[in-house]
Amino acid sequence: MSGPIHELDLDAFAANIHTVRAAVAPAEFMLVVKDDAYRHGLDAILPRAFAEGVSWFGAFDVETGEHVARLAEDAGADVRVFIWTIGGDDTPGSDAARAARGRFDVGIGDAVQLDLVAAAGLAQQTTVRVHLKIDTGLHRNGFRPEEWDAAVRSARAWEQRGAIRVEGVWSHIAEASDRDDDDARAVFDDAVTTAASAGLTPRYRHLAASAASFARAEFRYEMVRVGAFAYGIRPAGGPDDRELGIAPVLTVRARVTGVDGAVARLAVGALDGLPSLLAGRAAVDAGVHSARILAIDALETRVEAWPGAAAGDVVTVYGGAGAGRSATDLAELIGTIGEEIVLRTGKRSGTSR
Ligand SMILES: *Cc1c(COP(=O)(O)O)cnc(C)c1O
Repeated sequence: MSGPIHELDLDAFAANIHTVRAAVAPAEFMLVVKDDAYRHGLDAILPRAFAEGVSWFGAFDVETGEHVARLAEDAGADVRVFIWTIGGDDTPGSDAARAARGRFDVGIGDAVQLDLVAAAGLAQQTTVRVHLKIDTGLHRNGFRPEEWDAAVRSARAWEQRGAIRVEGVWSHIAEASDRDDDDARAVFDDAVTTAASAGLTPRYRHLAASAASFARAEFRYEMVRVGAFAYGIRPAGGPDDRELGIAPVLTVRARVTGVDGAVARLAVGALDGLPSLLAGRAAVDAGVHSARILAIDALETRVEAWPGAAAGDVVTVYGGAGAGRSATDLAELIGTIGEEIVLRTGKRSGTSR
């Protein structure tokens, strides 16, 4: 069993980057590369991103940040790496210490983290660039509005000792309804004002991810953090690829392993992340024919055979230029979002079944 075949269209990726840049200018664009670049593979995506001049990377955690930094150094690219998840210990090998050593921009959402990175900055005689996160309503993390005043004062005190510099104020919004997003933005703007009165001078305010950064200029501020659109993943139920000017980067294909009468078997299954709910709802693209999915088992998928189907044929599960069958198209058939399809079925580093 070989499993699915993953193909990347790096020219499509580059074109998406240019589309995103043009859409959000003059705001800067941070490319979000969490989850191994949305399962496109960091090692394949990053060199092209550097070549296209992407200078900000949203790397989620220290490991990913160090991976980005390593490849940037190899490529001679001068980049900034934003991480926003650090663990809570204060040993020399801790996330805070590594973040300080890596010269990362660190998203900070609670007082313990703030003190940890500040202490790491002092210990290493460096000034850690910090982005304070206000919880604007998602309740994932971030300083609650009632904690914000104390947070910005504490940050200012650490700045005066040279341990940190508050480079940004940020938050994450649902991008689900305009009304909720507007409420979140009001909380955000208040937080920025409070930070300024505490003497902080953040260069970057960042709030929007893909959807809001395209749709709503007032959400762009100095920077946006974009993942999905850069990989050509359009929002479920939203504008289509052409309207957005993006195209899928990842194509997932599968080989036909055998044909029994009316049924063709494909070398892709539930263990490769294909949601079994797609059976009876979706089809794969076999060139001129479209083959309805009959059943998805652990290691293989059975589809309706098409005229001339034979072992060794390759079909497209999603993606591909002009295929008209994106990850989001599949997602919509089963009430989920394109990101979920891509994260489940994309490349898995270190495994190849
Ligand atoms: C994933 C993520 C993004 C990117 O979201 P997209 O909708 O994929 O553009 C931005 N910011 C944060 C904090 C994230 O976790």
